[in-house]
Amino acid sequence: MKQFCYYAPTTVEEAIKLLAGANNNTQIIAGGTDFIVQINHKMISPEKVVDIKKIEELKYVKEENGFIKIGAGTNFSELDCSEILLKKAKALAAACGEVGSTQIRNLGTIGGNIVNASAAGDSIAALMALDASVVLKSEKEERVMRLEEFYQGHGNSQIRKDELLTEIFFQTPNENTATSFKKLGKRKALAIVVISAGALIEKDDSNKCTKAQIALGAISRYPIRVKEAEELLIGKELNEHNIEICLERLSEITNISVTNSPFKHLALYKGSAMKGIAREMFADILADLK
Ligand SMILES: Cc1cc2nc3c(=O)[nH]c(=O)nc-3n(C[C@H](O)[C@H](O)[C@H](O)COP(=O)(O)OP(=O)(O)OC[C@H]3O[C@@H](n4cnc5c(N)ncnc54)[C@H](O)[C@@H]3O)c2cc1C
Repeated sequence: MKQFCYYAPTTVEEAIKLLAGANNNTQIIAGGTDFIVQINHKMISPEKVVDIKKIEELKYVKEENGFIKIGAGTNFSELDCSEILLKKAKALAAACGEVGSTQIRNLGTIGGNIVNASAAGDSIAALMALDASVVLKSEKEERVMRLEEFYQGHGNSQIRKDELLTEIFFQTPNENTATSFKKLGKRKALAIVVISAGALIEKDDSNKCTKAQIALGAISRYPIRVKEAEELLIGKELNEHNIEICLERLSEITNISVTNSPFKHLALYKGSAMKGIAREMFADILADLK
């Protein structure tokens, strides 16, 4: 393995100073669960490594001014049992509980999951359903970007090499809202064979859907929001018939998307699999909305 210079800052300020002017030879490491695999497989060969594990100010879940805010260095085990998430954004707690094994959840961070930008990133689909945004800090500026914008296009995410992802935030879902996340299959080591769905549904007193945010994972380069399916529910009564129409559309979107993705060999089964897990997701949501 090529030698590299290793830095372990203890504050965000120190970290972004170390990242100033960074290029492809500089690499951040958080939990290291993707980083170590990438270095072992010679996918990366950094000259400078900035380890952010010791930055305590990046580890938190809090509710502030109507928003839930999460430090990028928070690991999945902490998020999986966060009282705030379990009470107000169950989809994200569930997604974090689905990641890898206990060891991976103890090390892996939500920030690493977002920046690694896997099509099957569990927290990403849930965060998209919650319409989350990310805060990216560099010495020069601070950028705030909705996740959908962060994952535009088919290449890499929008983060620059001199930027540190510091926070993820989304509006606290109100009392007439329920969220859920479902995933099919366990991911073993590097095999990406999952399909996932996350949703946030809000209803009014007459059981009409007033807000629908649905995201699907592992059907294209990044998890995606599916506005066409959301529109089929908004303004409609939340009953079996209308949900079935939405499920049908989710299945069609999955088939079309998978056919044009790296998972095209799985196109045959992913459409019906999506319908199955999305049905379970809606059952969860309807039970919570009662
Ligand atoms: C056996 C195994 C099973 C897994 N199972 C799953 C699974 O089921 N679901 C799933 O979603 N993932 C899974 N993963 C992938 C991995 O655990 C996650 O992507 C994890 O969240 C990565 O976080 P990390 O802190 O370990 O990131 P690292 O490996 O430290 O970093 C990952 C990338 O993000 C960058 N980075 C990290 N933090 C920041 C930051 N704050 N700002 C800017 N850049 C940053 C790093 O430079 C690197 O490019 C698995 C991995 C393994 C090895």
